[in-house]
This record gives sequence, structure tokens and C-alpha cells, in this order.
Amino acid sequence: MENPWTVRRARAVHLLGQTPHVEEILTFYVRLTEAQESLADRVPVSDWSERIRSPEGEFPRLRVAGLPLDELALPFREFLSRVAEFGTETIKDGAQTLLSRDDDGRLEPLRAARGAWGKTEGTVENGEADEEEKGDDFYFYARAFLEPIITSIAQADSSQPTDWTQGFCFVCGGPPQVAVLRDLPDALGRRSLMCSMCATEWRFQRLTCPHCGETEADKLPVHTAESIAHVRVDACTTCSRYIKTVDLRKDGTAVPLVDELAAVELDIWAQEQGLTKLRANVLGL
Ligand SMILES: [Zn+2]
Ligand SMILES: [Zn+2]
Repeated sequence: MENPWTVRRARAVHLLGQTPHVEEILTFYVRLTEAQESLADRVPVSDWSERIRSPEGEFPRLRVAGLPLDELALPFREFLSRVAEFGTETIKDGAQTLLSRDDDGRLEPLRAARGAWGKTEGTVENGEADEEEKGDDFYFYARAFLEPIITSIAQADSSQPTDWTQGFCFVCGGPPQVAVLRDLPDALGRRSLMCSMCATEWRFQRLTCPHCGETEADKLPVHTAESIAHVRVDACTTCSRYIKTVDLRKDGTAVPLVDELAAVELDIWAQEQGLTKLRANVLGL
């Protein structure tokens, strides 16, 4: 199987040459994928997947909240030391602050991220979700750290149950980061959603809002920008959410998670319209 971190990094480097206005974002992302890749290499996949696997037939397949915090402590510390060496001053400062905490305090962002797992942006189910996830300034570190761990575990078993039609990931329960369109031999313009945490893809109906299930075409406007032909905004006026779609029919070399990240102007446009992203990406955009 292709190494997802190498693929993403190569795409980010390629886009760097084409989209100078997002150079800072992509340069940072390249460094981040390096740190994520070395972390992914060290994940004891079968041991941890054994521990967090749901009973046969239950979804999501993995219970992320069951990851062993004590065993994450050392890799998290190493990851932070690495992140402290690149990125913006804010990113470096945050990493330093966490490194200076005691062992238990340092794990706080991981605890919060596990607790808030699978909740989409702006969702308040028990009144604490927003606070848990977004109220912590250190969510970025937790998410960037957990992403390669969950991705490595998920890759071991990502075959889709045939009847899965939900708006969240059947492997880890995470919300979708991006929608993907592609032509398959038996289905032209097949739509799928890609998980924001483990990159698993699952088929999803076209003309359906992944957040609220709206299916009326005139409530699901599409916005495109001339500068980026293969990425667009799919909005829903019923729940005021949006997700970006990467159309692989228009650019077969696109890597959805990376092209999503680079198309910042679409987020700016959508947010100006008062729309909330279904799920901010790893850089918080
Ligand atoms: Zn997932
Ligand atoms: Zn909706």
C-alpha cells in the first residue's frame, strides 16, 4: 500500500509551485507530514487495534477513546519536540508550553480530543462538546498527533460495509473532511466522503448534505472559483454547513486532503457567507 504521508507530502510540494499565496501553509504542512510519518512508523498497529476494536458488526469499528494514554505519553512528547522546531511562532510557543507541563498536564489535549471524538464543528450535544474541542488552544497538537495513529490502524481494515450511508466514518467515527468525485467503471461521478482523522473513504449519495441529510437540490448550492477548477464548495442552506469537494475527474493527480487544504480561498468565501465548515482541517482552516 502506498505510504499516505509520502503521497501527501509530494502533492503539497507540487502545489507549492502552483499556489504561491498559500506557500506558508503548504511549507508548514510538508514539515508536519514528516513528523507524522515518523510517528506512523512506530505505531504498534495490531496491538492497539486489538485494544480499541468494537465488537464484530458494531460501528464505528474503532473506539478511539480507548487508546492507551499512558503509552501515548512518550510519543506525544517526542512529537511536540519536533513540532517545536518548525512552524509559526504560535505553533512553536504552544508546543513549548505543553512540553513544559508535567506529564499529566501535557496529556490534557489528548484526553480532550478523545472525549470530543467524532463531533462536528459547532455541534453541541451535551453542552460540552464545543468547549472540549475548541476551547482548548492545544487541539491542533492532539489532532495532528492522533491522525497518523488512527490512520495506521484504520489502513489495516478499511473495507466498506455495503450498507453504510452515514455522514461519519465507519472506521473511526470521525466527521468527513472532504468529498470526492471520481468516475468508476460502474459508476460515473461516484461521490464519496473522506474521513478527517483516518482518511478512510466511504460512498455517499450525491445531492445529500452529509450534516443534516437535506436532499432538495435548491438548498444545496455549489460554489466554484475560477482559480481552482477541481475544488468546489458544496453548501447546505438548511443547516448552514459546507464541505469542499475535490473532483478527481478534473484533476486526477489531486490528493483530496491536500488539495482541500490548499484551496483556502474557498473557505474564506464560504465563511463570508456565514457558512460553517463541517470539519476544520488539521491546520484549523
Ligand atoms: Zn475515520
Ligand atoms: Zn445540511
